[in-house]
Amino acid sequence: MLIHSDRLFPVEPAAREVARRLYAEIKDLPIISPHGHTDPRWYAENEPFPDPATLFVVPDHYIFRMLYSQGVRLEDLGIPVKDGGAVERDPRAIWRRFAAHYHLFRGTPTRAWLNHTFSTLFGFTERLSSANADAYYDRINEALRTPEFLPRALFERFRIEAIATTESPLDPLKHHETIRQSGWKGRVVTAYRPDPVVDPEFEGFRQNLARFGEITGSDTFSWNGYLEAHRRRRAFFREYGATSTDHGHPTARTANLSQGDAEALFRRVSTESVSPEDAELFRAHMLTEMAAMSVEDGMVLQIHPGSFRNHNELLFRRFGRDMGADIPSQTDYVHALKPLLDRFGNEPNLTIIVFTLDETSYSRELAPLAGHYPALKLGPAWWFFDAPEGMRRFRELTTETAGFYNTVGFNDDTRAYLSIPARHDVARRVDCAYLANLVLTHRLEEDEAHEMAYDLAYRLAKEAYKL
Ligand SMILES: [Zn+2]
Repeated sequence: MLIHSDRLFPVEPAAREVARRLYAEIKDLPIISPHGHTDPRWYAENEPFPDPATLFVVPDHYIFRMLYSQGVRLEDLGIPVKDGGAVERDPRAIWRRFAAHYHLFRGTPTRAWLNHTFSTLFGFTERLSSANADAYYDRINEALRTPEFLPRALFERFRIEAIATTESPLDPLKHHETIRQSGWKGRVVTAYRPDPVVDPEFEGFRQNLARFGEITGSDTFSWNGYLEAHRRRRAFFREYGATSTDHGHPTARTANLSQGDAEALFRRVSTESVSPEDAELFRAHMLTEMAAMSVEDGMVLQIHPGSFRNHNELLFRRFGRDMGADIPSQTDYVHALKPLLDRFGNEPNLTIIVFTLDETSYSRELAPLAGHYPALKLGPAWWFFDAPEGMRRFRELTTETAGFYNTVGFNDDTRAYLSIPARHDVARRVDCAYLANLVLTHRLEEDEAHEMAYDLAYRLAKEAYKL
């Protein structure tokens, strides 16, 4: 068997029994996926996925970063090169290369997600290896030609109640429009991710500002016009179901500048070559402006800071962004968030959800902040920590100070569509295991644990993101 029915449950028999009982009641709950990066085109066009390699390997930076670290060239995995140079085009060859390296994923969440998918969707019982690579390829390839594996059929099979994609303000949302026109009942909403027009260091920032102006009919080279463009675009995104914004800044820094200082800073970043200090200050101030707009329009504000993007210079030049070369860095929240919290931390109608890639900040900074400020909530274990041990550490380091109700359930944050049920299942199991231990150490009654398991799997995400 590829997956065991007791996976991730406590080793101790009495605790395992409680975890099983908790899990049995929540395992089939619908999936709320309030933050992620699936392609809205899939739901709009409902076309078959092309082949196993294009579905599982080529778009998944978890997979190719590991293969790359062990000497496999990205060209040999079919990753397009910016200068148009030669890359592997044969999906079966890519799949065989991936299968030959499957042992590299031992002990990683990638392997747990893949095994879950291979087992539950395609009925495999044997571990993927070079020996069975072709048998795997053929069975998956055949399944992908059937109506049950079309994106919308999978959406229903996965019991997705709502899923958010993530788009730039420059995106016309045409796939969301197609979904709406189609009459299909699946709930796919967008989320507002304005980094391309908020981060002066983003590629093409000034051209992006010009385009932002054309789209919104605002003068995006004046400070007030620029803010107005955001207001209009946020309203447009809300028409397509958006309930949240998302900000992927290098740090969590916020600022609260006077109107005059903000205007002068905007003039500099929009017209001159930008200094790193100005870029950082502008991003910082824009988080506070975004919070001000959220107070007006009710959109939930997510901050995903602390990723050093495109760390590998050579890879970035050759392949572009999102190539598995993003590395976590140390992140300060206590000082960084203060300007924003000074202004909006006590707002009863504002929700700011903070994530971290710096686990040392959980107990020292984030849990105390979220356990105090009404506007602040903690996002779940993210990215490198979206894994059983990462989730367990998250609960252990935050619960005693922030409780469960200042957290927001699970986000799969994925572009790997088929892994969504597997990822939610891991979160549900780890939370049940954590709750079982609280029950067995007499810190929680079992009836409360049942309620909590439901809240963590379903209700908190739905409520925090207003879905
Ligand atoms: Zn994300």
